[in-house]
Amino acid sequence: MHIGFLGLGNMGGPMARNLLKAGHRLTVFDPFPQAVAALVEGGASPADSPAAVASAKVEVIITMLPTADHVKQVYRGKDGLLANVDQGVLLIDSSTIDPLTAREVARFALAQGNPMLDAPVSGGTGGAAAGTLTFMVGGPVGVYDQALPVLSVMGQNIVHCGAAGNGQVAKIANNMLLGISMVGVAEAMALGVALGMDAKVLAGVINSSTGRCWSSMINNPFPGVMENTPASRGYSGGFGTDLMLKDLGLATEAARQARQPVVLGAVAQQLYQTFSLQGKGSLDFSAIIKMFRGES
Ligand code: NAD
Repeated sequence: MHIGFLGLGNMGGPMARNLLKAGHRLTVFDPFPQAVAALVEGGASPADSPAAVASAKVEVIITMLPTADHVKQVYRGKDGLLANVDQGVLLIDSSTIDPLTAREVARFALAQGNPMLDAPVSGGTGGAAAGTLTFMVGGPVGVYDQALPVLSVMGQNIVHCGAAGNGQVAKIANNMLLGISMVGVAEAMALGVALGMDAKVLAGVINSSTGRCWSSMINNPFPGVMENTPASRGYSGGFGTDLMLKDLGLATEAARQARQPVVLGAVAQQLYQTFSLQGKGSLDFSAIIKMFRGES
């Protein structure tokens, strides 16, 4: 299949490479020339604008962009995808953005004859490289079925979440819970250690008791409790604090629009925001435990 791919960063780069490895033909665009060069080396064709990707007779276009503003510009800009793409070409946006923008772009796409899905992912850069991402997909079920063979190359779990925008809803609800649970685990671990407990013993108790969750079992924030976690390598790698802050911002803003209280989500957002202001935005989000341990 001939696929257009825009946004070849930490996530999009490895996702596009997996499509190439699976034998698909790729036409790619990213304003960052080195990102394009890496894919061209692997066999992709370069394009010099979103319009050029749309005009390259592709059958599917995938975007993996930083924010909703980028998505609006790439899809709806003058040299964007929608103004230049043939009718019937399937559009898949895997960026994490707010559900309202996702729904609006999908409505414009559909109105001109292009089926569109929002398909944000979880699984991080490791999952992108390994082709084991989870895709949370919003859009008509027939379009989801059409996209499955392509999404399956990049992911292991492809979940249909409902109508347009619902992929983003699932993504921001999950990540809000993740941000909150990490703060909870950090607070509990710091309390236990401050009261004299050994961190490994405490983590063992939590992980065989009712407090356990992903943040305590897989990505425990206390240094040295588990091997191969960001906490045990100076909080490098993993999921950056600023990316968590972005997702919490999307969740709290979507909640405001729906007049839905997200009390703990808002507190977690403020904590990560304070931490980011202290210059820690690039550390894995589990580093939030530093705020509870009085570390700068
Ligand atoms: P990134 O900043 O590494 O990559 C984004 C890429 O988009 C960059 O290469 C940038 O040059 C490119 N870009 C910017 N403007 C563009 C345009 N107009 N046209 C084409 N390309 C353009 O970001 P990332 O980590 O790959 O994240 C991408 C998306 O995936 C974000 O929405 C993020 O929230 C989400 N996400 C990231 C992770 C993660 O662990 N990094 C995990 C899940 C979801």
